[in-house]
Amino acid sequence: MRVGIGYDVHQLVDNRSLILGGVTIPHSHGLLGHSDADVLVHAIMDALLGASGLGDIGQHFPDTDPDYKGISSIKLLKHVGDLLGHAGYKIGNIDSVLMCQAPKLSPYMEAMTKMISEALSLDRSQVNVKATTTEKLGFVGKKEGIASEAIALIYKA
Ligand code: MG
Repeated sequence: MRVGIGYDVHQLVDNRSLILGGVTIPHSHGLLGHSDADVLVHAIMDALLGASGLGDIGQHFPDTDPDYKGISSIKLLKHVGDLLGHAGYKIGNIDSVLMCQAPKLSPYMEAMTKMISEALSLDRSQVNVKATTTEKLGFVGKKEGIASEAIALIYKA
């Protein structure tokens, strides 16, 4: 068995859609990034790549590559799942946390879990998404950005 961690932060700005876990969430602001800036999926991809010793998302999907401009991170997650499969790994479970002051994410957790587990052909019970505020402290608390951490356990098939 092997484990990996992932961490990501994106800035909240005007005039962008807020996409978390592949779900478009109604909000006054969205996350800035080269792709759709799905901070949760980015952390999960890094956890999976880290667990398998395959580097990080910056190596696989450089933000200088126009192919990835505006791309759905769920598509990239499917690709990471394929990479792990080709390397002979299966995913045991993924746990994750979103650090977000606003909007309230609880109504969307189920949909996010569904999107992520389906992208990786996992059972819903293998994927867990949590959310927390930072009690108005720091850049998350000041609504300047959203952060995410993830951990993944994988094993040789
Ligand atoms: Mg990112």
